[in-house]
Amino acid sequence: MSPSGRLPDVTVRLRAKRRIEARHPWIFADDVAASNAAAHGDLVRVRDAAGTVLGVAFWSARSKIALRMVSLEDVVPDEAFWAARVDEALARRGTEIARWTARRLVFGEGDGVPGLVADIYGTHLVIQVLTAGTERVVNHVLAALRERVAVDSVLARNDPSVRTLEGLTREVRQLSGTTPEAVVVDEGGVRYAADPWRGQKTGAFLDQRENRVACRAYGRGRVLDAFSYHASFALHAARNAAEVVVVDASAEALVRGRANAERNGATNLTFVEANAFEDLRARERRGERFDLVMLDPPAFAKSRGDVPAARRGYKEINLRALRLLAPGGVLVTSSCSYNLDEPSFEGLLRESAADAGRDAVVVERRGQASDHPVRLAFPEGRYLKCFVLRDATGAP
Ligand code: SAH
Repeated sequence: MSPSGRLPDVTVRLRAKRRIEARHPWIFADDVAASNAAAHGDLVRVRDAAGTVLGVAFWSARSKIALRMVSLEDVVPDEAFWAARVDEALARRGTEIARWTARRLVFGEGDGVPGLVADIYGTHLVIQVLTAGTERVVNHVLAALRERVAVDSVLARNDPSVRTLEGLTREVRQLSGTTPEAVVVDEGGVRYAADPWRGQKTGAFLDQRENRVACRAYGRGRVLDAFSYHASFALHAARNAAEVVVVDASAEALVRGRANAERNGATNLTFVEANAFEDLRARERRGERFDLVMLDPPAFAKSRGDVPAARRGYKEINLRALRLLAPGGVLVTSSCSYNLDEPSFEGLLRESAADAGRDAVVVERRGQASDHPVRLAFPEGRYLKCFVLRDATGAP
């Protein structure tokens, strides 16, 4: 942005104009007609072929997503603009949200701050900047957050691989204060340690928080938590279960899981380091049965091209999990692949059940935690799907 506040112009084709008018925040490179003097990461003014201003966006000269819309007004976003976005994000979450030690304050496009994630663990703020445009304005957003939220330290977990696509370096950097290696999070009475420096995402999977708490009610008898990471689903279910088998392929995740079990005085968890695909198959062969199975695999479909293979993966684990259910048992199954939408995931679960020779009732259709807001105009923002199915094979 020049000091006079003038922004470079980017002209888009008709299809993009329609998308922008429908409030979709992403415009792909194919729909850009001319980018004039825009440099990678610039805030730009978006115009249609006739020169009418459609709004303001971050410009990426490298990503397939060329424009990330910031506003549909003809504005020059300044400090006050970003502070207003932070106010809106905090207001959207309400005051009730403060009952969670760990929560998301800013969720990218869902909060009108494309490419930025800001999570708070107690008083420790952890951010992820995913685009070159966001990098240029992040200090304004941070300043606004610090004025409104109690913050003792700020850590930039800028290590996701998507940064490479934007030509950004991958790094983890202390921006202020001292972020501890472990922050103990209270999640509805279950305590777990988040590791902002080395843990997954910004230290934990905050998006599953409400689903984990919901699982407590389904805990009984024998429980299996596959793709468990640090046993956070398991710990909730363990409150009401006799035994919980915790399976993850990562030894490090299981070390964290054991420490979390100790932290909660839980002695009914068994930890198994294994590939969940093989583990589920072996248990099925042995005729094991569980009253509750929880599946929370990583995103199998990271891109559209992965979808066919991802579908096979999801189908296989869900089929095995359904076969492991005791009569009337419950399966809590998640997918965080945004390339696989909810109807597709539900269809796939239906196929898995048919192939498994099982019938089930859909008890709940759940999604990501409420501090990961989904815009109606931006379905891609709803990436986490979570179904609660109850076995009904023997029922009339
Ligand atoms: N349920 C967890 C998050 C799980 S993240 C929570 O709510 O906190 C996905 C986990 O799957 C990671 O811990 C990863 O180590 C594990 N994983 C990935 N591939 C796996 C495989 N083939 N078998 C078992 N675990 C796997």
